Amino acid sequence: MTEPYDVLIVGGGPAGLSAALNLGRALMRVLLVDADRPRNAATLVSHGFLTRDGVPPHELRRLAREELAGYPNVEVRTRQRVFGIEESDAGFAARLGRRSPEESVTARAVLLASGLRETLPDVPNLRGFYGVSLFSCVACDAWDLRDRRLALIGESADLASRARLIARWTDALTVFTHGSDAIGPDEEAELLAQGIAVERAPIMELQGEKGWITGIRLEGGAEHAIDGGFVQPRWDAELGYLQGLAPDADEAGHLIVDRSGRTSRPGVYAAGDIASPGPQQLMVAAGAGARVAAVIVHDAVGITTTH
Ligand SMILES: Cc1cc2nc3c(=O)[nH]c(=O)nc-3n(C[C@H](O)[C@H](O)[C@H](O)COP(=O)(O)OP(=O)(O)OC[C@H]3O[C@@H](n4cnc5c(N)ncnc54)[C@H](O)[C@@H]3O)c2cc1C
Repeated sequence: MTEPYDVLIVGGGPAGLSAALNLGRALMRVLLVDADRPRNAATLVSHGFLTRDGVPPHELRRLAREELAGYPNVEVRTRQRVFGIEESDAGFAARLGRRSPEESVTARAVLLASGLRETLPDVPNLRGFYGVSLFSCVACDAWDLRDRRLALIGESADLASRARLIARWTDALTVFTHGSDAIGPDEEAELLAQGIAVERAPIMELQGEKGWITGIRLEGGAEHAIDGGFVQPRWDAELGYLQGLAPDADEAGHLIVDRSGRTSRPGVYAAGDIASPGPQQLMVAAGAGARVAAVIVHDAVGITTTH
């Protein structure tokens, strides 16, 4: 076993990479382990990241890793996974490897930045359109779909408020509840008054080619011409590797952190989608990573953080 790292970072999305950069510049000895399965891999381009609007997801990560390569005190291991973390004399001990645990490392602090997993509504062939003409992040992708005939597909209780948001970008929005009761009668009346149609029948087929949706066929045979749209997934955090630590999480599986990114376990921090019920965006995750890095450095020298 090697000397303890100052910080072990689990996950190399924007949150983990941004934290690694800032910790590296603070002379911390950092190990970042990343399974390299970005949640946004389904999409061709990412939007809204200052100076990188329209960058492909993997390119953003590649650029960040290239910058980290300039810091000899930051070690990045991609396509490796953390399989378990527990407390140890050094602080924490983690098992990592490619397909199974092959090695143990120790660290004085741990930053959890492993993101979320999403489950799409059970609609036939939805994956075939996801990331090309159907998206989940309204702030990220609505601009490119503006003024088109859009669909919103979902089964969750926040579907009506999602529809009102999307209606900023189009006058031709239809909400598909796919047989669920996600929208109540009062909500339906409110949406109709705003010119938003609601279809309750189960979806039988998404029509189109090479990811570009052209229509939706419902049970009973009705067809809607559609040029793009949004789906409302379910999100949960894959926390299995944390069984030895079990920091507090909310019902949705987000880790509960204070405003500085500390979890309920001393020495364990979290940043990015895994900790944030707020906007799930690259820039927000990167900002959270930078912020928690500052907090980890302050905690290491015993300064009370005031931000
Ligand atoms: C289809 C789609 C399109 C999107 N488009 C945009 C967009 O255009 N603009 C925008 O701002 N946002 C977009 N988002 C949202 C954005 O991708 C997320 O908000 C952002 O990636 C969150 O960053 P993160 O660092 O918290 O987690 P992630 O980027 O999800 O990174 C987490 C990393 O941790 C790794 N990991 C997980 N478990 C382990 C483990 N046990 N050991 C090691 N590594 C592990 C994963 O493989 C992954 O590489 C999109 C999301 C989706 C799903």
